[in-house]
Amino acid sequence: MSAAVTYLNARVVGAAADSLRVARGRVAALGERPAPGDAVVDLDGAFVFPGLINAHDHLQLNNFARLKWRDRYANARDWIADFQPRWAADPRLLGPLAVPLPARLFQGALKNLLSGATTVAHHDPAHYTFHRRDFPVRVVSRMCYSHSLGVQGERAVAAAYRRTPRGWPWIIHAAEGVDAAAAAEADALAALGCLGANTLLVHGVALHPAAWAALAARGVGLVWCPASNDFLFGATAPVADLAARGRVALGSDSRLSGAADLLAELRCAAATGQVDAAALLRLVTIDAAALLRLPQAGRLAVGAPADLLALPALAATPAATLLAATRADVRLVLVAGQPRYADAPGAFAANGSAASRATVDGRPKVLSAAIARRLAHLGVAEPGVTLDGA
Ligand SMILES: [Zn+2]
Repeated sequence: MSAAVTYLNARVVGAAADSLRVARGRVAALGERPAPGDAVVDLDGAFVFPGLINAHDHLQLNNFARLKWRDRYANARDWIADFQPRWAADPRLLGPLAVPLPARLFQGALKNLLSGATTVAHHDPAHYTFHRRDFPVRVVSRMCYSHSLGVQGERAVAAAYRRTPRGWPWIIHAAEGVDAAAAAEADALAALGCLGANTLLVHGVALHPAAWAALAARGVGLVWCPASNDFLFGATAPVADLAARGRVALGSDSRLSGAADLLAELRCAAATGQVDAAALLRLVTIDAAALLRLPQAGRLAVGAPADLLALPALAATPAATLLAATRADVRLVLVAGQPRYADAPGAFAANGSAASRATVDGRPKVLSAAIARRLAHLGVAEPGVTLDGA
């Protein structure tokens, strides 16, 4: 049974509070002194963000290298086709594929956890291990998805949209390319009746600002994956107007095409020059929560789950700090009030939970003992991460 913990010297982002009290997995108070009996953790002036939301990943595809066989593609269909003859022949695919699925999913979740992403929209089938207490992140469960028109065809896509409860997001890869066929997918989805206020298009690279304005008028949102888009197409979606309307969430996609993790994805997004740092922070917090229909996520408020990311103040503002940070800088990540990744064991001791020492990108870090045990048991080889004594 873990005690209530008050985190002091915390600069709580979006709440103008200098402390945060966690009890029973939730935020119990903001800006209050520790209650009698509380354990206390000093965060030394760290910025405390809500746990970040990664709006698009394929968790099981994060033990692969970034792969492509042409310098630039015109359409993701051609990239997918380039994989087909190689699944059974290319060692860069065969090796990662030989790793059992639970280990691959765990690695994808660990990638997210270490970057402060505590909630992930996984664009593939759910797996029973997502519910284990030692699974590193929350996986969005109240959502439906289709792969794409190209992979599944119009009938299956339209049926999937019709089956989706109106209050749940429905997510599909669309307009993933720069050619006319990619651009035509928005019209095809409209004709199928698949564009509603719960529709989220992943990528949307081929759509010009006027097309996006029309989609936004229907309530459609974008899951933006600029690193993947740049890798495959040398181009990305026009997001400035959409982001100003709160209709964009950021996704890392998997390492087959995307950035190393969500923090790296944020830097790639900033490098496009389309969205400023403050807006980028919203794309991984409140705007992502609104688009994914996660009313409890993306903010730190009394009563909300205590999912958070603490980063030392690397810059004057929280948003600039987020863009400057790597996973080695992370001070603390909590999921449901439980420390999972930190730079010192104090938060684990305060919470009454066991910790294991690790090294991440050359820096001494601490993982929850349960996650470290699972990592060792599954034999996951996350680049840059070693368990001390392993
Ligand atoms: Zn994807």
